[in-house]
Amino acid sequence: MDAAPLIERLWVGNAGRNFNYLVGCPRTGEALVIDPLDADLCLRTAAARSWRITQVLNTHEHSDHVGGNAAVRAATGARLLAHPRAEPRVGPIDQPLADGDAVAVGDVRLQVIEAPGHTPAHVVVFAPVQPSLFCGDTIFNAGVGNCTRGGDPEVLFHTLQRLLVELPPQTRLYPGHDYMQRNLAFALDREPDNDSAQTWSERIENEAVAPLTTLEEERGFNPFLRLHSASLRRNLVQAGLGAAASDKATFLALRTLRDRW
Ligand SMILES: [Zn+2]
Repeated sequence: MDAAPLIERLWVGNAGRNFNYLVGCPRTGEALVIDPLDADLCLRTAAARSWRITQVLNTHEHSDHVGGNAAVRAATGARLLAHPRAEPRVGPIDQPLADGDAVAVGDVRLQVIEAPGHTPAHVVVFAPVQPSLFCGDTIFNAGVGNCTRGGDPEVLFHTLQRLLVELPPQTRLYPGHDYMQRNLAFALDREPDNDSAQTWSERIENEAVAPLTTLEEERGFNPFLRLHSASLRRNLVQAGLGAAASDKATFLALRTLRDRW
């Protein structure tokens, strides 16, 4: 029977505000590392929990998501899993990932979803038992990934539409970075009457690191998941910042604005 994953969200504490993740099996103690940057932190955490790291998975090929690959693999002999298009940047892949693939971590079953947009080689990983999404740089708390280093915002738009349709609303998000305070400030700049964004902004004002959120909560305050919002669209049009004729046009206008914000 499939088990609920044990999840360690590791705060690297660097300027890029990266998270690294360990996903462990409660029965066998096997563990998968997602996007290691601080290898020592990943190895120390696994040792403290008596977990055995057997796999490393990269959501995409950017250096801040793969920088700890070599050290983690040298210390553990872990296999490398990533999208084949990431190979030039991540090194030889033991298990190329494609849409619909299953990844087993002991009794924990993960589903691979191809999620291009931030880069063409991006994948996200979904745990259906205790719904959890390891979303790399696709969705952040109160924001989405940029497309300035090899990405395409139109592709990202379609990826997000698909994830919103396919994933349950109670899905917990485990993104690659914490940009929540700044993202909420942008959200309120675009949609000043959004009470949810205001409440969350006040709630996390003095927090060192973002809290966990669900997709349903994100739909309340994440402007990129609120393309239908009349107030958000009206503000774009009034400021001459986008036609807001469609969800896609609204998304693209928001992405361009956030890049410069
Ligand atoms: Zn990235």
